[in-house]
Amino acid sequence: MDIVVLLGAPGSGKGTIAAKLAAADPKLKHVSSGDLLRGAVAAGTEAGLQAKGYMESGNLVPNELIATMIKDVIASAEGDVTMLLDGFPRNVAQAEVLEKTGAPIRSVVLVDVPDEVIADRIAGRRTCPKCKAGYHVKALPPKVEGICDACGAELVIRKDDNPETVKDRLVVYHRETEPLVEFYEAKGLLKRIDGNQGPEKNAAAFKAAM
Ligand code: ADP
Ligand code: ZN
Repeated sequence: MDIVVLLGAPGSGKGTIAAKLAAADPKLKHVSSGDLLRGAVAAGTEAGLQAKGYMESGNLVPNELIATMIKDVIASAEGDVTMLLDGFPRNVAQAEVLEKTGAPIRSVVLVDVPDEVIADRIAGRRTCPKCKAGYHVKALPPKVEGICDACGAELVIRKDDNPETVKDRLVVYHRETEPLVEFYEAKGLLKRIDGNQGPEKNAAAFKAAM
């Protein structure tokens, strides 16, 4: 197994890209740290109880908490799979945790989207609480308004997708996560794609780069 890391701001579309590619290729496994954490919150686990407040305010959860979950997922990977790691690492300390697992990183792809575009993207974002599919009211609408194409559940707006929290998440991204661009560039692992091309072309560009 090996790992492809997706880097990008909240709303950059990295989750949509990873989900699309994984749906089309059984060897690609989408691992979203946000989905793992939201799953823990929904299940009311100890980790979920700890994570909830950080997530709702747009802050990062403590490194330990998410690192434990990701290490478990990596340890349980079997066979010839490529993990599309979406949302982890999000700071240099987490990148070091990932390195220590010894799992080979094939590449790190930065999905580049200007901050101005992000607010609009997130304002229109809708999420399936059941199967985690992501939509956008304009850019990627479901066939029936408000209903998940994949599983029929009613779509929701994530609690942290309100304009104030989005601003805070972008600040956190620039401060904590963006330094990873240089971190991975120095290791010769970084690739960049233009994340402003629409879901289909973004996914194609990502696949070509990864
Ligand atoms: P987005 O990429 O749109 O910000 P995610 O679903 O990746 O959304 O993350 C949602 C929230 O989950 C983050 O704002 C943060 O609170 C928490 N989170 C996700 N991944 C991590 C991580 N690697 N480290 C710390 N917190 C994380
Ligand atoms: Zn669904």
